[in-house]
Amino acid sequence: MDYTKQIQEIASKLFAEGKIDVFVGYRLTGFDENQVPVLIRDQKDVSQLVFNDRSVFNLVNYLKYEHTRNKRVGLVVKGCDSRSLNLLLTESQVKRDKLYVVGIACEGVVDEQGNKMQNCMECVFPDAIVADEMLGTPHEVRKYKVNADIDELASKGLVDRRVYFEEVFENCIRCNACRHSCPLCYCAKCCIDQETATLYNGANTTSGAFHALMTWSLHLAGRCVDCRNCEKACPSHLPLHLLHKWNERVIYENFQEHLAGVHEGDRGAFYKYSMQDPDDFIM
Ligand code: SF4
Ligand code: SF4
Ligand code: SF4
Ligand code: SF4
Repeated sequence: MDYTKQIQEIASKLFAEGKIDVFVGYRLTGFDENQVPVLIRDQKDVSQLVFNDRSVFNLVNYLKYEHTRNKRVGLVVKGCDSRSLNLLLTESQVKRDKLYVVGIACEGVVDEQGNKMQNCMECVFPDAIVADEMLGTPHEVRKYKVNADIDELASKGLVDRRVYFEEVFENCIRCNACRHSCPLCYCAKCCIDQETATLYNGANTTSGAFHALMTWSLHLAGRCVDCRNCEKACPSHLPLHLLHKWNERVIYENFQEHLAGVHEGDRGAFYKYSMQDPDDFIM
């Protein structure tokens, strides 16, 4: 999967035709073969753009910052990224007519060691759902499977799970890189930020981290698209997908097989209601 040339050409054309103010893509770090996001503001710089299986980050996150607000933006989205874009559109955080979206029929991305990422191995929607033009060969529809780590976690007793998560939360330094790197966390005043915390003590304790991360994961329940931007950003390498994939499974099983952002205009799991929904979890 290498669309470097095509993306450079598309960005160049968009600037030449005066259709965009900024293009959000990937460039090489300059140290190795890994990549970082880049905001290109001039046609002469499009040669910096690259795209291959090292294009790991979810660029939709950059639509929530000042650099792109009220601007005409070109950007690249893989399948998972496009689902978060779909949600930002539904939640009225971005305007579709301000965007030019280059969608990728994605073959999967790799971690820094070159291994295919776990979320890519079980990806259900690899092809971009929102796009003005597509690159790559579309895939067959795939069936949702519960993540193997979640199956393993569910097989543990409550006490073992508590001990496991106490260790996870103990290693959180409450830097909030996870929530800042999530495209779906855009609240100006976040209830778990240490500087602006409205609900929680910002102290860096295990119980503080527990409350912050559990609250965070619940705010993403039915919205998380499994792009793992948060996990890639975590300096402590915490397995944050365990929180999100657990919620994803519960919601899939109880809310009409809901998966986040896969339909245009979909308002999320908690807006769905059917008399057939199971209610045995309600006391
Ligand atoms: S999760 Fe799917 S769409 Fe996202 S990078 Fe992996 S294969 Fe591509
Ligand atoms: S990025 Fe990692 S260490 Fe930082 S707050 Fe989130 S979970 Fe904790
Ligand atoms: S919580 Fe993490 S995996 Fe889920 S959408 Fe946000 S950044 Fe992506
Ligand atoms: S954690 Fe909750 S309050 Fe904070 S930015 Fe995310 S959705 Fe908003």
